[in-house]
Amino acid sequence: MASITVGEIDVLVHKKNIKNMHLYVLPPDGVIRVSVPVAVADDTIRLFVISKIGWIKKQREKFKNQARQSAREYIDGESVYVWGKRYRLMIRHGSKKNKVEIKGDRLYLYVREKSTVAQREKALNEWYRNLLKAAVPTLIETWQDKVDVKIESWAVKNMKTRWGSCNIVAKRIWVNLQLVKKPLPCLEYVIVHELTHLLEKSHNEVFVAYMDQFMPEWRMRKNTLNEYILDYVDGQELT
Ligand SMILES: [Zn+2]
Repeated sequence: MASITVGEIDVLVHKKNIKNMHLYVLPPDGVIRVSVPVAVADDTIRLFVISKIGWIKKQREKFKNQARQSAREYIDGESVYVWGKRYRLMIRHGSKKNKVEIKGDRLYLYVREKSTVAQREKALNEWYRNLLKAAVPTLIETWQDKVDVKIESWAVKNMKTRWGSCNIVAKRIWVNLQLVKKPLPCLEYVIVHELTHLLEKSHNEVFVAYMDQFMPEWRMRKNTLNEYILDYVDGQELT
């Protein structure tokens, strides 16, 4: 892939048989890649990148926050999110099984004394996973009917770069574990999005028309998701 420099920014240039230019800020380091029509001139690409500078900075800032966010210690006072609501984490020691209790604005995580960061993270993630798994079936059932498709299976997966994905051939949907931290309507949006892929593989006009039909306010839900740290970048490598 070729590259050009715009001010102090290195830009990877991918020439393709397409009509419009697209710009991507790639996690985790905020590398810039543009997809452009084959015949477009470098100066045109530069102007295009410059017109997106504000957005590029914002995305890069988000990735930085994401790195900060991942350096968690799971100690008293840290913020944890459940369905879009923020709670204060409190670590409590118990000799029995790990568990989580929510009281008011506090989330109590009961773990073994001398537990490591990784063990506390695992205990919380297990609880998160069960919570998410309990919420998914009803949504899938409801929306399979409305979208008029049927999947073979679904699973929860902790993913870094996408909220969901759909294997069209196997009719299998993956849902990102991180969605349990976002407001519930966001999970619903992702499920509808992935189910819609069974009708239309790519994010084209047909796909958008389906989404408008099934969930007229899907853009609002998608924006809510994007206000949060992880970006929705599903769709780049659909199978
Ligand atoms: Zn998609």
